[in-house]
Amino acid sequence: MPVWFARGLRRGVVTTRYPARSDASAAWLPTPPAFRSGQLTRQAADRMVAVCPGPALSRRDGMLVFDVGACTACGRCAEAAPGVVTSSGEFELAATARSALIKKIPIRGDER
Ligand code: SF4
Repeated sequence: MPVWFARGLRRGVVTTRYPARSDASAAWLPTPPAFRSGQLTRQAADRMVAVCPGPALSRRDGMLVFDVGACTACGRCAEAAPGVVTSSGEFELAATARSALIKKIPIRGDER
């Protein structure tokens, strides 16, 4: 009998306390990016769109359109545009409407 199984029977707890309490391991989870609008240029946006492996990023006029629901948190956009992208730290992404997962980030880095 595996040790973890016997321990679970003895303690009555076989999983973590999540979601009642956040799990410490959540700090190491890859999370979708967050974009710094003031640092974001059209050139950087186009680089990120080009390296994104799915349909999560696109550029429309002066906006970077980010579909959080299509993001795999792979980190390629952060590698393509350092200084523009940070980790959101957010992995609880459930939404009742698909449209709530589409973010439009103004491209303001070209205004400087
Ligand atoms: S983390 Fe990966 S999938 Fe998500 S937006 Fe960046 S490149 Fe696209």
